[in-house]
Amino acid sequence: MTVLDIIQPDNPTLRKKAIKVSSFDKKFQMLVDDMIETMLDAPGVGLAGPQIAESKRIIVVHLPEDEEEFGDEAGVLYAVANPKIIKTSRKIVNGVEACLSIPGYAGEVDRHEMVVITGQDRYGEDIRIKAKGWLARIFQHEIDHLDGQLFIDIAHKIWRLEDESEADNTKPEIRPWDAEVVKLQKEREAEEAELRRAENE
Ligand SMILES: [Zn+2]
Repeated sequence: MTVLDIIQPDNPTLRKKAIKVSSFDKKFQMLVDDMIETMLDAPGVGLAGPQIAESKRIIVVHLPEDEEEFGDEAGVLYAVANPKIIKTSRKIVNGVEACLSIPGYAGEVDRHEMVVITGQDRYGEDIRIKAKGWLARIFQHEIDHLDGQLFIDIAHKIWRLEDESEADNTKPEIRPWDAEVVKLQKEREAEEAELRRAENE
């Protein structure tokens, strides 16, 4: 198994609509293994094909081994090909998200509290998963990746996380796509301010 490079928004593959998985051959099994290895190494709770520059509709999801927080779902690993959300709760919940492809940022994103997903497992067998809470959030985030959508596109608040370089009082690393995120960040702040103004009137 190999730890693969996780791409960032300067790589256009991240913005492309991924194509359907139709072959569950040995090569695909290797890809799934490498994706799991890459996700666990990061460490992250989910990873989608486009994030490792494979424009394929495959996601892997893993909840940490924390039984207190995740109950029966703790430590469970999912690999889902061609995932589709077929049912959503009416209830929407707000929560904080980050992304392995957008290091250094977090945002507040509204998601369905519950989703039902259909697709295939890594061997091509049909599966159906009912996910709630944080698991539902991860699935929605990863499935968005398959259509080229990032959490910064739908977050209603985005902020930069303090990294080690900032703690050291040195300049934070500048990345080629920082400007894009900062632009979205400013737009959201303006929207929020506008909303607050409207509420106060
Ligand atoms: Zn992501």
